[in-house]
Amino acid sequence: MLKRQGIYIIAGVIALFVALHLGFPPDHHAPRTTGTVMMGGIAYLLMTCAILLSTRLAVFEDWFGGLDRMYQVHRMVGVLAALTALVHFFAVPRELPPGVDPIANALAPSAPLGMLGLIFLVIGLFIALNRKIRYSRWRPTHKMMALVYLLLTGHFVTAPGVFFERFSVSGVLLMIAAAAGLVALVYSIFGMNRRTALPYRIEAVNALERATEVVLKPVGDKLAFTPGQFAFVEIEGKGWNEPHPFTISSAPGEEHLRFTMKVLGDWTRKVREELVPGGDVQVRGPYGRFDAAQAGAKQIWLAGGIGLTPFLSKLRAMEAGDPRQIHLVYAAREESEAIFLDELKARAAELGNITLVPLYSDQGAFAKVEVMREKLPDPLETYEYFMCGPKPMVDGLMGDLKKAGVPRARIHTEAFEFR
Ligand SMILES: Cc1cc2nc3c(=O)[nH]c(=O)nc-3n(C[C@H](O)[C@H](O)[C@H](O)COP(=O)(O)OP(=O)(O)OC[C@H]3O[C@@H](n4cnc5c(N)ncnc54)[C@H](O)[C@@H]3O)c2cc1C
Repeated sequence: MLKRQGIYIIAGVIALFVALHLGFPPDHHAPRTTGTVMMGGIAYLLMTCAILLSTRLAVFEDWFGGLDRMYQVHRMVGVLAALTALVHFFAVPRELPPGVDPIANALAPSAPLGMLGLIFLVIGLFIALNRKIRYSRWRPTHKMMALVYLLLTGHFVTAPGVFFERFSVSGVLLMIAAAAGLVALVYSIFGMNRRTALPYRIEAVNALERATEVVLKPVGDKLAFTPGQFAFVEIEGKGWNEPHPFTISSAPGEEHLRFTMKVLGDWTRKVREELVPGGDVQVRGPYGRFDAAQAGAKQIWLAGGIGLTPFLSKLRAMEAGDPRQIHLVYAAREESEAIFLDELKARAAELGNITLVPLYSDQGAFAKVEVMREKLPDPLETYEYFMCGPKPMVDGLMGDLKKAGVPRARIHTEAFEFR
């Protein structure tokens, strides 16, 4: 779901810092020092926000509209932090004001800590934004950002008084941010942010067209979730590496948990080729806020390829008499690739409030606004949209729907990637 509270909170904290910093500047600071220290403070606050977002706390999911959105904002504030830190570095005055002892100043560790922090921040950002690095390699290197945060905390805490006034009003705000950021850092770096794992056993591995359905049976407690949520799946045994996120495609009431995994890289290929029933799996979750239950009476569910999985769970969970009128637009390359098509048709016939709109690109039918305008009975702006699919498709539709007069608040997306 689109939620903006989180963004407003971040903007509010930055605005508060700026107001306090400019409203109560330390007497002896020259205007340039005030301005450049302010940029450094903003960079630090943004980094703190990025760290807080890596905690995966449920309350943050509520504020930001799900973990996928939290990671998008995490990336955005990380980039902004690096840019403001660079402005701070290049603009801060090098010459010391009269009366400041240059030797005492040179002995303060602030400058080298800041310099190292900035170098690692820029390197870390290049790595973070480089999609060519495989996820399994990228993830450990991204943890270097924890070191950056420690270095930058050391930088401002040890800064000479002429540059940074620790007990000014804005300085106290930074100290509070540092305390929160350090706690959050320990929490996520030591894995305390991962929700408790529930043990499951592999009941079946079903090969579908370019995807694999993994059916899991609970060993103890069942995972409680709402349709559309996802979980991290960790397969026990050699060579399975880190947990991977997958939307739960079964309904909450089912005894088994089902995931439908498209073959994309090494891990998902290994699932298809090597996974056999009987093995143990840890499931961590649930995460996500892609919830259509409370949304408007007329909904469009737009699934591109494997983006069908959140809607599968919703359809499987839906009871007869649901008052919503739903058009499920299902875009696939060709009919043979449209997984669970027979089940979708059967559910649509059984429930009565679902209209299935398949679009196959090999027949020239693409998920485009013009095509939808043709296929849907009412004007586009009368529906509420839920979209999940390849990024170019979702981004393109988002832009075109907005141009067609659909308010952004009525378009909800689920991204199948965190980077
Ligand atoms: C919220 C969410 C829900 C998803 N639901 C589904 C689903 O229902 N069905 C489905 O087929 N796919 C789903 N995915 C995508 C799925 O996680 C990736 O396709 C899978 O992890 C790829 O792993 P790989 O090693 O085979 O491929 P790779 O080629 O190694 O990875 C492809 C891409 O997948 C992502 N990825 C890889 N490993 C991880 C990881 N450990 N953690 C996070 N992201 C990773 C990265 O963006 C990477 O670029 C979902 C992803 C997210 C974020």
